[in-house]
Amino acid sequence: MHKVQPFFPRLPYTSEAVAVHREQTPVKIQLLPSTFDDQGHATAEQRLTCFLIDERVAVDAGSIALALNAEQRENVRDIIVTHPHMDHIASLPIFIDDLFPALKQPVRIYATPEVIELLERDIFNWNVYPRFSELKNDYGPVMEYVPIPAGKEFKVAHLTVTAVAVNHIVPTIGLVVSDGNSTVAFSSDTSETEEFWTLINRSPHMDALLIEASFPDSMAKLAEVTRHFTPASLGRELGKLNHNGLDILAVHIKPSYRQTVINELNALNIKGLGVMEPGRNYHW
Ligand SMILES: [Zn+2]
Ligand SMILES: [Zn+2]
Repeated sequence: MHKVQPFFPRLPYTSEAVAVHREQTPVKIQLLPSTFDDQGHATAEQRLTCFLIDERVAVDAGSIALALNAEQRENVRDIIVTHPHMDHIASLPIFIDDLFPALKQPVRIYATPEVIELLERDIFNWNVYPRFSELKNDYGPVMEYVPIPAGKEFKVAHLTVTAVAVNHIVPTIGLVVSDGNSTVAFSSDTSETEEFWTLINRSPHMDALLIEASFPDSMAKLAEVTRHFTPASLGRELGKLNHNGLDILAVHIKPSYRQTVINELNALNIKGLGVMEPGRNYHW
C-alpha cells in the first residue's frame, strides 16, 4: 500500500501502488484549516476540528462553514459529529444557515443518541440557534439526525463506518472509516482508552490513524482532567496498536503549545508518527 511521508510532498505512485489502486481511487482526507494568513493561505495551527473525506463527508464540523470551497459546500451533506465540544461544531449551525434556501436534501448529522440530545438541548435550542431539525425550506427538511449504532457498522455516503466510545469528558466516539479499499481511524478527543484499540486491531489492515495530542507533557495534569493526550501518554497508548507500517498523524495540538508538542512527539521516535497539516490533501 502506498504511504504518504508526513511533512514531505506526495510522491508519485510506485508500481505496487498503481496495481493496488488501479480500479479505485485512494481515499482523500483533509483536515480543514481554521485560520488563514494575510495571503489567505492555511496556517499550521489547528483551532477547530473538521476532516473532509473524499470532498463529500465531514468528520466533525468546527471549521465547516469557513474552509469549504463552493463545490465542496454543494457536495457535503453527511456530517459525523464525534462529540458536542465547540471546537468540533463551532460553525455547523452557520453551515446549515448558509445553505438553508438551497438545500434540496437535508444535511444529515450522524451522532450517537446522547450527542444528538446535547446538540438539541444546547445548540439548536432556539436560543443559541434555530432548531433546524424542525424547519423546512421549499424542498423539504433542511437537517436530519441519523443515530449512530454503537459498535456496529453503518454507511455514510460511500463509506463504511464503525464508531466506539472513547474516553473524553463528554460522550465521544472514535471511528474506523473504510471506502472498501483504504481504512483510516479517527480517535477524536480522548485519553487512555481500550475499545478503540480493539476496533482498530480487529480491522484487517489500517492505512492511517489520525490521533489527538492536545497538550505538552508539562501539562499532564490538565490533560488528565480534560481527558486528552500528551505526547508521553500518546506514546504509551500507541503500545496498544498491533498494526505496523501505517501513518500515524497527530491532530488537535493546542496552538499555544504547538512547537513543544511537536518536539515531544518527535522525541518519541515512533515509526510513522508525524503531524497532520491543515489544508493539505492526504491520500491513502
Ligand atoms: Zn473535546
Ligand atoms: Zn476538541
